[in-house]
Parts: sequence; C-alpha cells; structure tokens
Amino acid sequence: MSEVTIVGSGASAVHFALSVLQMGYTVTMLDVGYSKPETVNPKDTLNGLKENLADPVGYFLGKKYQALILPDAEKEYYGIPPSKDYVFKIPENFREQSSGFEPLFSFARGGLAEAWTGGAYAYNDEELADFPFQYGDMEPFYNEIAKRIGILGDNDDLARFHPWHEHLLPPLELDEHAALLYAGYQGKRELLQKKFSCYFGRSRLAVLSRDFAGRQACDYSGRCMWGCPSDSLYVPSLTLETCLTFPAFTYISKMLVTHFIYGTANRIETVVAYDLEKKQTREFPVRRLVLAAGTLGTAKIFLNSIHRQTGQIMTLPGLMDNRQILIPFINLQLVGKPFNPETYQYHQLAMGIAAADPRKFVHGQITTLKTALMHPIIKDIPLDLKTSIFLGRNLHAALGVANINLHDDRRPGNYVTIAADPDPLRAKLLIKYSPPARENKNLKNLISQVKRILLKLGVVVPPGMLHIRPMGASVHYAGVIPMSTASAPLTASADCRSHDFPNLHFVDGTSFPFLPAKNLTFTLMANAARVAKKEF
Ligand SMILES: Cc1cc2nc3c(=O)[nH]c(=O)nc-3n(C[C@H](O)[C@H](O)[C@H](O)COP(=O)(O)OP(=O)(O)OC[C@H]3O[C@@H](n4cnc5c(N)ncnc54)[C@H](O)[C@@H]3O)c2cc1C
Ligand code: SF4
Repeated sequence: MSEVTIVGSGASAVHFALSVLQMGYTVTMLDVGYSKPETVNPKDTLNGLKENLADPVGYFLGKKYQALILPDAEKEYYGIPPSKDYVFKIPENFREQSSGFEPLFSFARGGLAEAWTGGAYAYNDEELADFPFQYGDMEPFYNEIAKRIGILGDNDDLARFHPWHEHLLPPLELDEHAALLYAGYQGKRELLQKKFSCYFGRSRLAVLSRDFAGRQACDYSGRCMWGCPSDSLYVPSLTLETCLTFPAFTYISKMLVTHFIYGTANRIETVVAYDLEKKQTREFPVRRLVLAAGTLGTAKIFLNSIHRQTGQIMTLPGLMDNRQILIPFINLQLVGKPFNPETYQYHQLAMGIAAADPRKFVHGQITTLKTALMHPIIKDIPLDLKTSIFLGRNLHAALGVANINLHDDRRPGNYVTIAADPDPLRAKLLIKYSPPARENKNLKNLISQVKRILLKLGVVVPPGMLHIRPMGASVHYAGVIPMSTASAPLTASADCRSHDFPNLHFVDGTSFPFLPAKNLTFTLMANAARVAKKEF
C-alpha cells in the first residue's frame, strides 16, 4: 500500500504528487486519465498544417464538423478543436445536473488545464485576506511552481496587483495588434489610471520564452489552441511525466473513483473505483487520501462517501466561479491590414481595474485575433452572411477580445449536493448557482467602463456582440469545503486537511474560502505544493 493515494491527475494533483515524491513518499494516483492524441506534424506552423495535412478540415473542424459553433449557440467565441476533445470527454457513467451553472468537467490525463490558455497570476495579500495564511506563506510555493513550469511576465504596471515572484522569464514578442494596444496604453497611461483606475501590462503566462527544463522556447507556430507541439505552453501532463520517472510512483488510469470507506474515528481505509475498461468495481486500501478531482469531482466523491455510510445527504454551500464577460473589439488602425499567423495565439496583454475594496479587483486578458477560428465571430456579426464574411476577412487583423473576470464570494444559495442511488456509480451530482444581488446593474456599469477604456485605446466595441458568459464557463470552481481555523464540520484546516476525516486532504479549489478575479490555477498548484510541505 502506498503512503499517499491521490485522486486525479490535473494541475492540483500532479504538483502535490511531485512535491511528496521529492520528499521520499510512495504515491499511487487513481485517475480516469483519457489521453491526448499523437501530435501531428510537430514541425509545421498552423498554416503549414493547412497545406501539409491530408485532411486539414478534419483536423481543424473535426470529422463530423464538431468544432463548428453554429449561429444559435450562445455566442461563444472559443470553439474546442477536435484535438482537445479528449479533455472534455465524460465517462458514460458520470451523472450531473445543474441549475444556473454550466459546468465543464475533465477526466483527462492532466485535467482541464490540458486546454487552458496559461494565465498564471499569484494572489496578493488582499486577495488572500479570507485565507488562513498570507502571501508571504505562499511565496516560496509560487516560486517553486514558477521554477517547475516556466512562467513569463514583466515587472510592469500590473505588478501592483500581481506579486512579482521569482523565476519569471522575459515575455514573448508582442504581435502587431497587441503592440499597438500597449503603445496606446503607454500614451494614455496617466489618464487611464486616474480616470478609470485602469492599468495594463503583460499577461503572466505559463509559456517558455527560452528553452527550459528540456522544453523548447515558443517558436511562434500559432498552434496554441490545437495543442502546442513543442511543449512550450505548459500543461499538467508534463509534470505527470516527471512523476512517472520516480520508482515510488504508481499511476492507475481508467479508474472512476466513486467513494471512500471509513472506519473508527472516521479514518479512511479504502477508496472504491469503477474500472472503466474491465467494467468492475475495484477497492484500493489507503493510508492517507488526497482528493484532487477538481472542486466538483472532489465534492461528488466526498458526498457520495458520507451518504453510503450514514444515509445522510449533505449539502456543500459556497460554490464559486468567476463571472466572465467577453467583449470583442475592432482596432480601427488595423482594418484591411494583413496579420501575421506566426505569432503566439492567446492573450499577451492583461488589464486590471482597481476597486475601493481590493478584493473586488477586476482582471482582464486581451486576446488579439490571429490564428483563432474566425467563424464563431463572423456568425455573430449582425449582418447577412456575405457581408459578414467580407467584413470578417477585412477585419481579421483588427479584431480582439477582452475577457473580463470578476471575483466571487461564498454564498449559501450556491451549493452542490447529490441525488443518491444504491448504485454508487448512479449517484448524481446536483449543482445550484444564483448570481449575487444587483449583478446586472454592476455588470452594466463595468461594461460601460471597459468600453470607454477601449475607446481611449482607439478600439470600438461593435454592437450586439458582447457576451456575458454563463456561470460555470470560466471553469474556476472553488469553495465548497473551505479552509477554516475553526474546526467545524464540512471545512478543512489551514493546511487543507478535512475536519471530518483525519487522513483526508483536499488540494484542488475545494478548500478556497474566496475566489479573486484572477485565474486560480497557479494558486491551485502552489497551494498543493504548500500542503505537501506542511502536512507530509
Ligand atoms: C479552455 C480553458 C481555459 C482555461 N484557462 C485558464 C487560464 O488561463 N488560467 C487558469 O488559471 N486557469 C485556466 N483554466 C482553468 C484550469 O484549467 C483549471 O483551474 C484547472 O485545470 C483545475 O485543475 P484541477 O487539478 O484542480 O482539476 P481538473 O483539471 O478538473 O482535474 C481533475 C482530475 O481529476 C480526475 N478525476 C475527476 N473525477 C474523478 C473520479 N471520480 N475518479 C478518478 N479521477 C477523477 C480527472 O481525470 C482529472 O485528471 C482554463 C480552463 C479551460 C477549460
Ligand atoms: S506556445 Fe503556441 S505559438 Fe508558441 S510554440 Fe507553442 S503552439 Fe506555437
């Protein structure tokens, strides 16, 4: 029996696993673990793929055109390419029902961040105010993760919000559009800061600007969304590969964990999983169990376990996610101009809007459109198809999207529970979410503020294209078993040990007591490394 058993192989799980392996523990990781398809033509740029692949349409849009976003779909601007289908594949036995929330799940080897866009920002002291520790306690672990995965950034105006930790690599070259926007900001810096409390700077990205730890620097192939062929854009499966080099590490995939079984003094003794290949139940004895199945996956295992042993159906309140607003814009200086497809594809600029209460800081990431799929945007131009395609072609280089993120609080009406079933596989995760009071009014004011900021940079927001994404879409889930210094049921200690089960830890977003506007994954990874160091 391993000393530590971990459920999941996502960003949280792999950094916890690597930390305890480095400390000399034996580790078993149980995971569903759908794996990624082979990388095609790794030396080709995006346009090279279009020319050299035997079936480029199949690669970009899917054999059944499944990557197409049709006009009636809800104005999403990011299609999932077929090469990333494995990230969002759900085992047929997994059941879930949501109200007011549109969750995404991943059962991939590496989890959701196999498809992420690499935004990696540390939380500051104000954002950690509800956590039972401060930035100084987290800093060594942010440093450690930055050293492991490679994060780039600049010590610019955004450093006032995003702590400047160690091991940051220099940023990538800006594409022409991003460079224009940034120059626009520099010219209007004082005005934007004074009038709108708005600051711009470079995105902090888990991407390599120089060769690092056996991985290559980004060569601007423009293939980010379809899967970086040179591993320059970090994904958690890379850290899983490192874990697999340790003889003390056992990785068992195709296991859908349903629940754990506990004995005297609530000590967990066994984890039960359904073997998706052999279609039978398996039991794994455990000494210490670490749940890192993603906040929703972890909650389901936890709730199912309690129900199977006590008959009680518990409710876990406080589910959080970042509200996201997508604001497409047109840079008038670039209308009719060509664009360079050999550039980094995702956001290179970020923005922050300071608030009187620093916990309410608004975080934005700006993506200028280069090699992204154009049809999700063209379909929403409120004109006929021919005119929309003409405009799409001529506006391509001028298009961009600001992705604005808001913080979230734990509120009792937002919860997860289960609809139990005698068969543990058939238990259904139930999710309920309602936005905070006055959200509409606050969003309206914020959108108007962002539009005015963008206008100062010479860009306009075309009417009818703005998209307030549904809750769940940001995939930053957190908060249902929060860290607490008081030893209350359904909470965790400051070091993420369950207050209900003494040999259980949560190392994903489950235990976050507050969700700042910034993307959380860098903090998930750093916190997982912190828990390993503090508790093991
Ligand atoms: C398109 C996209 C873009 C994103 N961009 C960013 C970004 O720029 N910055 C950022 O910070 N975040 C981003 N995110 C969010 C980020 O991906 C998640 O925060 C992160 O992946 C969460 O990691 P996790 O390890 O906690 O959970 P997950 O990634 O959800 O991993 C869960 C793991 O548990 C396993 N698992 C689940 N249930 C079970 C079970 N019952 N039995 C066995 N195994 C199980 C799964 O196989 C998986 O390996 C993005 C997400 C998406 C989808
Ligand atoms: S990060 Fe993107 S642009 Fe850079 S090498 Fe990878 S796929 Fe190409």
